[in-house]
Amino acid sequence: MRIFVVGGAGYIGSVCTELLLDEGHEVAIFDNLTEGHGRAVDSRANFIQGDLANREQIQGALSDARPEAVMHFAANALVGESMRDPSKYFRNNICSGLNLLDAMIATGVQRIVFSSTCAIFGLPEQLPIEETTPARPINPYGESKLAFEKILKWYDRIHGLNFVSLRYFNAAGATENFGEDHRQETHLIPNVLKVALGRKPNVEIYGTDYETPDGTCLRDYIHILDLARAHILALGAPGSAFYNLGTGGGSSVREVIEACAKITGRKIATSERPRRPGDPPRLIASSEKIKKELGWRPQFQSLEAIIQSAWKWHEKFPNGYED
Ligand code: UDP
Repeated sequence: MRIFVVGGAGYIGSVCTELLLDEGHEVAIFDNLTEGHGRAVDSRANFIQGDLANREQIQGALSDARPEAVMHFAANALVGESMRDPSKYFRNNICSGLNLLDAMIATGVQRIVFSSTCAIFGLPEQLPIEETTPARPINPYGESKLAFEKILKWYDRIHGLNFVSLRYFNAAGATENFGEDHRQETHLIPNVLKVALGRKPNVEIYGTDYETPDGTCLRDYIHILDLARAHILALGAPGSAFYNLGTGGGSSVREVIEACAKITGRKIATSERPRRPGDPPRLIASSEKIKKELGWRPQFQSLEAIIQSAWKWHEKFPNGYED
């Protein structure tokens, strides 16, 4: 298939692009490189530097590329930042995303796979989180993604747009070539590995007084390749749908740090800090729906295997893509 990957120079987009190309698909990447990196662009893809905020740019690029489907990864995705600058999140994640949908309608592209998030669920009353769990975000990031999911439903109903929205839990790990490198790193695993590499003095633990077994937040870490495989399955979905994507395991911040220390063989210094605003204590997925309907099976079930792949990438690229 011809796939148009918006945000293909970012962490998740670069790995999906690599898998699409490995499987024989043709890929055009559209990215403004504010979060993504030129070096994360797979050399086999056709790269267009452009911004979704510019309606003409995205419409022109889509009408040149004539794809059969779009994968939309381009968004701001930091809970903490969204609590300080909600406007950025609503503008980029909703308004710019609308430009993409309108350009798709104008150019006759009927299928989209959308990167959504478990942050839409806020403080879930039951675990694991199913697709029927009420979505009540507690930060502007989650709210912006939920709003876009609702827009997708209306575009399906009114314009016949076929969508699959994948609610990622915590994406982690790497392939041989592509990994996680944010200019301003806020994510737990890369931050811990930076300490292991000697690039950071210690890792800050945000909150040790949550009602969880060791007082730190629980997250469901999922390998980036398992996420990428779900996107490829989503291209063949029979109709529009929402799917949760995790492995069903809950690892605490302290457990992640211990696993990183074991895998890297390095000591990880920590410092205990107050809670980070907007963080829910526990987010654990049920992925039964996508397993049943699309036949998805995660291949990386253990936190150790996920961290091992991330560590291999960080050792190979100790300064990330800017090296
Ligand atoms: N976290 C932490 N120290 C860090 C980065 C993150 O304690 O340097 C915690 C964060 O508060 C959350 C968990 O680790 O409970 C996962 O955070 P991350 O930013 O990786 O992903 P999120 O769940 O926010 O998408």
